[in-house]
Amino acid sequence: MNTPSDDRGLKIGIFGGTFNPIHLGHLRSAEEIRDTFALDRIYFVPAARPPHRSGDTLVAAPYRLRMVELAVADNPFFQASAVELERTGPSYSIDTIRHFRRTLDPAALFFIVGLDAFRDIHTWKDYATIPALCHLIVTSRPGVVSPLPEQLLPVALQAALWYDPAHTMYRHPSGHSLVFHEIHGLQISASQVRALLRQRQSIRYLVPAPVAAYIADNALYQPEECAE
Ligand code: ATP
Repeated sequence: MNTPSDDRGLKIGIFGGTFNPIHLGHLRSAEEIRDTFALDRIYFVPAARPPHRSGDTLVAAPYRLRMVELAVADNPFFQASAVELERTGPSYSIDTIRHFRRTLDPAALFFIVGLDAFRDIHTWKDYATIPALCHLIVTSRPGVVSPLPEQLLPVALQAALWYDPAHTMYRHPSGHSLVFHEIHGLQISASQVRALLRQRQSIRYLVPAPVAAYIADNALYQPEECAE
């Protein structure tokens, strides 16, 4: 496996998501990425106000952050980040990347994004700037048929990136790279977890035990709270 390399010290992953709630699929995916790309740490960044999500099934951001904190507490390589809760306005990825660029410089940053979200990257604020600031790891899930990577790159990124066949990655003049990486992890989704909770069914072994306990204690995702 070829991995993007950067010799400027630490390699830090940034894994954004709604985490509504965080589940073992997220954690296994992050672990595979940490291992494959030899990352020193991964920050899990819950979106406070995701610009592309409707809010009716989204529990309040402090609950989602707390669940992330509980989920990563036993892993020294994983850390929850409240950075998007500390900002006002919509949670734009570019602002989060700039925050980590500022606070962690000169670490090499690896922004981790699912293929589902990457398909819409052309709608993101200042998306063409992202490869100038960090590496991109675009993850797909097993069983999900994905188009060829070149069909997924929006025009502005096609112009800025070129394909390096020897390392099976795209490269940017800044030295950053974009890699498509298939996750072999767990087929779990937050929608599935919420659906089970709405039906008052068990979510055991789908989310970490402390997260399941927190959901129960705070009566999150109960039938009366979900309009989905
Ligand atoms: P929902 O079911 O509500 O759409 P989700 O399970 O996809 O939620 P998100 O918080 O939206 O969770 O996901 C954050 C990121 O994690 C996304 O980029 C998504 O592609 C990725 N992801 C989610 N579940 C998995 C999984 N089981 N394996 C690998 N990646 C995942």
